Amino acid sequence: MKAKDDKTAPPPLPEPLRVAVADAHTHLDMQAGTVEEALAKAASVGVTRLVQVGCDLAGSRWAAETAGAYEPVLATVALHPNEAPRLVHGDPDGWSRQGERPAGGEAALDEALAEIDRLAALPQVVGVGETGLDYFRTGPEGKDAQERSFRAHIEIAKRHDRTLVIHDREAHDDVLRVLKEEGAPARTVFHCYSGDAEMAEICAREGYYLSFAGNVTFKNAQNLRDALAVAPLDLVLVETDAPFLTPAPYRGRPNAPYLIPVTLRAMAGVRNLAEEDMAEALARNTERAFGVPGLFEG
Ligand SMILES: [Zn+2]
Ligand SMILES: [Zn+2]
Repeated sequence: MKAKDDKTAPPPLPEPLRVAVADAHTHLDMQAGTVEEALAKAASVGVTRLVQVGCDLAGSRWAAETAGAYEPVLATVALHPNEAPRLVHGDPDGWSRQGERPAGGEAALDEALAEIDRLAALPQVVGVGETGLDYFRTGPEGKDAQERSFRAHIEIAKRHDRTLVIHDREAHDDVLRVLKEEGAPARTVFHCYSGDAEMAEICAREGYYLSFAGNVTFKNAQNLRDALAVAPLDLVLVETDAPFLTPAPYRGRPNAPYLIPVTLRAMAGVRNLAEEDMAEALARNTERAFGVPGLFEG
């Protein structure tokens, strides 16, 4: 038996969806295999579009290039909330684990933001993100740089009329506060939604989208299912955040866009909807959330 190998092997292909949807948030550059392979595998189960999310300068450039080269791919560009303090303070244990990097101070952050601003203007770039606040990975010494970066990303998103993609980890109150202070862009997505039902109601009032990842299937994540149950259906999205957050029963194995049907089916169960109705709603929501009507035609 190869039990040990099996636990790290890619999960099997789920049964195909009959209504095509998108993976609203993925990181192909952190997954094994080629872009072509990932797109073909996803399309074979009805995941025909995906949003490739940038987390640092190199990743954002790559996202824009990849969206330019592959029709099914849309791009978002940003400095991840854990990347901003790294640029300023040179934290070696930051987001992408590229090793030690010299501290560049505020000027390094400003320079990087100018490049994000330039990339955000490209036609294949539909969003600015993932940005936001992360108090899990970044300690108090990085908070100022993180919040300054978040505010700058909000401004860039609004100026280019791009969707704001938010990463909010253990920072719900401050993320909501900064959004209110700056004024949120017309389209704002909470990626890997991690709040409870009460916060879902706040998001609903503000018109923010709630994007659910594979962790909505986890046994200990009743708070996420409660949030999904009360969220307005027209503000709900589905994403993988792959290679992270592989849905049950495949936790611990590599995640990829082709596993969207697993999470989508769990979400349909929470909402008491037929799979096709859930998929139809998610497809329309993705078009609206990223300002790309007709995404699933032709
Ligand atoms: Zn994130
Ligand atoms: Zn992500």
